Amino acid sequence: MPMTRISDDDLRFDISTRAVHAGQDPDPTTGAIMTPIFQTSTYVQPKLGEHKGFEYARTRNPTRDALERNLASLEGARHGFAFSSGMAATEAILKLLSAGDHVVSGENLYGGTHRLMVQVLERFGLKFTFVDGRDPANFERAMTPATKLVFVETPTNPMMRLVDLGAIGEIAAARNLYFVVDNTFATPIFQQPLALGANIVVHSTTKFINGHSDIVGGAVLTSLDEVAERLAFLQNAAGAVPGPFDCWLTLRGTKTLVLRMKKHDENGRRVAEWLTQQPSVKHVYYPGLPDHPQHALACSQMRGFGGMISFDMGSLDNASTVAEGTELFSLAESLGGVESLIGHPATMTHASVPQDLRESMGLTLGLLRISVGIEDPDDLVADLEQAMHAVG
Ligand SMILES: *Cc1c(COP(=O)(O)O)cnc(C)c1O
Repeated sequence: MPMTRISDDDLRFDISTRAVHAGQDPDPTTGAIMTPIFQTSTYVQPKLGEHKGFEYARTRNPTRDALERNLASLEGARHGFAFSSGMAATEAILKLLSAGDHVVSGENLYGGTHRLMVQVLERFGLKFTFVDGRDPANFERAMTPATKLVFVETPTNPMMRLVDLGAIGEIAAARNLYFVVDNTFATPIFQQPLALGANIVVHSTTKFINGHSDIVGGAVLTSLDEVAERLAFLQNAAGAVPGPFDCWLTLRGTKTLVLRMKKHDENGRRVAEWLTQQPSVKHVYYPGLPDHPQHALACSQMRGFGGMISFDMGSLDNASTVAEGTELFSLAESLGGVESLIGHPATMTHASVPQDLRESMGLTLGLLRISVGIEDPDDLVADLEQAMHAVG
């Protein structure tokens, strides 16, 4: 099975340079500087048993190859695998396991990830324990002899809690476990989990990585050769691969990822700071704020805080007034695009999380989550201000 192999030489450039160039050599037949969209399902073979490395497009496609190399290089991984969605990427990782295996996961997860684990994979004999990820000892306490994998998001969605990747990396390494980090919120620009102790990174490329709200995609990055071999097998065997046009759009997205993340971060800090000064806002969750309980950890394991902010309006009424009253912040699921979005986790992204679990982690009916885009920050603040005017 052919596989990505990013070498040390590929990593000698800064991440801004890699974002633009990694995995993308000029097309050898035409010199086209941009990787073509290889919109094909199969490849002609000159002779029986002879081919150019490409046989069938579920197994391999040159546009997808370019994206997989690009994303691997951004995460500092040797191997990359692109999937048709973030959920398909996470599912492929969990299919490294067998019935009876146990997973310890942070409890504060993307709602769909929790649903995949509990409502789909438990039926196939995988077992999951969910713990408060803020204390690394909780992971250790939940482990059994059957534990094979630790799964975390940091910062978490939507409570913006952090998980100490170095500390959990040590616990996982001592037991030889897979340590998977969903790096969708921070992106490799602000957080490099593989350098901090994780051995597998997963992304919903739908979000910041593509950044333009025009595709759904996912990716898995790892430097473990035997895991990469199995993932290549699973990617081909189960077949949740992205089409070449989506890969091409995502590659266009990664070229500006560094610039976009800088602007999301700048705008995010500005909006978060402003929110803390509003009397109708009960609480602001943003790791960049000095009063975030894990601000010190955020400063040590992240290089920026980005544009994801949650804040509590105190009641469902107030939350809906704001969510329905903004003009620039569009009411929609998803995040990470150049345009600003606002969402209500309890009824939208996290509706599938059981209510008691939601409430125990502070995911109240008054909670709103915003994805701050790259628009002018004064315009964004003014938009929130006019929407909050209507709150009593
Ligand atoms: C959106 C999201 C996912 C799921 O990805 P899809 O591309 O929608 O399948 C997983 N994790 C996080 C943190 C997300 O935001």
